[in-house]
Amino acid sequence: MTRSGRAVVVGASMGGLLAARVLADRFDEVVVVERDTLPATQQPRRGVPQGRHTHLLLGRGREVLEQHFPGFTSEVVDRGALVGDLTGRGRVFIRGGFLTSFDSGLDCVCASRPLLEQVVRERVMAMGNVRVLDGTDTLGLRAVADRVTGVRTRRRDAPDEQVLDADLVVGAAGRAAASVGWATELGYPAPTQEEIRVDITYVSRRYRRRPGDLQGDLFLAVTPEPPGVRAGAVLAQEDDLWIVTLIGYLGERPPEDADGFRRYAASLPTRAVADLLGDAEPVGEPAVAHFPASRRRRFERLATLPEGYLVVADAISSFNPVYGQGMSVAAEESLVLARALDEGLAGLPRRFYRAAATVVDMPWTIAASSDLRFPQVPGERSVQVRLLNAYIARLLTGARRDPVLARAFTLTNNLMAGPRSLLRPAIAARVMVGGSRR
Ligand SMILES: Cc1cc2nc3c(=O)[nH]c(=O)nc-3n(C[C@H](O)[C@H](O)[C@H](O)COP(=O)(O)OP(=O)(O)OC[C@H]3O[C@@H](n4cnc5c(N)ncnc54)[C@H](O)[C@@H]3O)c2cc1C
Repeated sequence: MTRSGRAVVVGASMGGLLAARVLADRFDEVVVVERDTLPATQQPRRGVPQGRHTHLLLGRGREVLEQHFPGFTSEVVDRGALVGDLTGRGRVFIRGGFLTSFDSGLDCVCASRPLLEQVVRERVMAMGNVRVLDGTDTLGLRAVADRVTGVRTRRRDAPDEQVLDADLVVGAAGRAAASVGWATELGYPAPTQEEIRVDITYVSRRYRRRPGDLQGDLFLAVTPEPPGVRAGAVLAQEDDLWIVTLIGYLGERPPEDADGFRRYAASLPTRAVADLLGDAEPVGEPAVAHFPASRRRRFERLATLPEGYLVVADAISSFNPVYGQGMSVAAEESLVLARALDEGLAGLPRRFYRAAATVVDMPWTIAASSDLRFPQVPGERSVQVRLLNAYIARLLTGARRDPVLARAFTLTNNLMAGPRSLLRPAIAARVMVGGSRR
């Protein structure tokens, strides 16, 4: 592939790094501008506060990371992460019961979010033509006529504004409106946005991991069952730790102190998290995150877009984190970006946004329709959404015993198969039989 020109990426989190990965194959030089001073080892950082919370990498995300960085899973495991069968060593309590356990043949890698990001960052930096300007704020865009020609930046330790010229600027500054605002400051319209308000609070604590915990499983997810508003997740990670996240929906806030945390765990629809916490030793301080709403920005519907500028990942769509979709969607969008780039820079933003919208459709449908089961969540419940939810409820009842149904659900939930695959006649027949037996 011939490379030419310079691409600038704003944001060195998962979305920005994965974009940089594909840009590095197509540009002479890729400069990633990051506000934080990046740590040399894996540790949470200010610009990615969610790094202190459970981050599950879905099956599809891991597949794409392997494609971009061959040997990614083994490298993360060499640094202390754990790997195990997605359904053989991971348990999901959903709609009132556990999915049946079976060997899926699919790996799940269990690690802290900072470790995942560190390995991705090192692999991207090793490409040779990528450099990171950290400790540097992006202030806005530079444009000539209808084309973005660079970014305005300022080092955090210096007063002067700099301009960094670019043939393409990719905004990966996260879900806040900053990178969208940079285009509107130039006079371009803002995209319409859709929101599903869930008003979630995450409280996460780490505990020392002991042999025999969770009967040898590596993760556990407890999803809420409306009208219940409590949920939880447990994930093994490096350094012999568990990260345990308790989640409150719709304004509910789990306590941060160790005793209150245990009591909250005991109030979940299964005792599995409370049993794990029992007399487990807490490590470090709790972390809290609020997540008001899933948000999708409809860039693909804009009539006018500047050439030379596009945004990716959470800047397009950020999902209720309980579904664990963000990093995997960022990964999938990097593939879409690569394909759009192969057709040249002219018209790139429109091509990219159209293709990215089809990537976002599936996770958005999964998250939105599931959250709309809560009567308090504002939003239209179309006939399609109500039918889908009723069907999934029935499928999940069957999936407590039937590995074929559990597998079909797991593949969809891990973004490895579309929701339509759940409607295949072979699956629908089992849903009708298995789903009716309680
Ligand atoms: C509580 C929580 C839990 C989550 N759990 C999961 C999970 O289990 N699985 C999963 O796949 N996803 C999860 N996610 C989502 C996931 O973290 C994101 O989807 C993923 O990080 C991709 O986001 P991003 O790169 O677009 O933006 P972010 O991760 O928000 O990163 C934005 C980057 O841009 C930098 N930046 C911002 N503004 C500027 C500026 N002006 N100049 C320079 N740099 C700037 C920031 O410092 C940061 O590095 C979770 C999210 C939250 C909030």
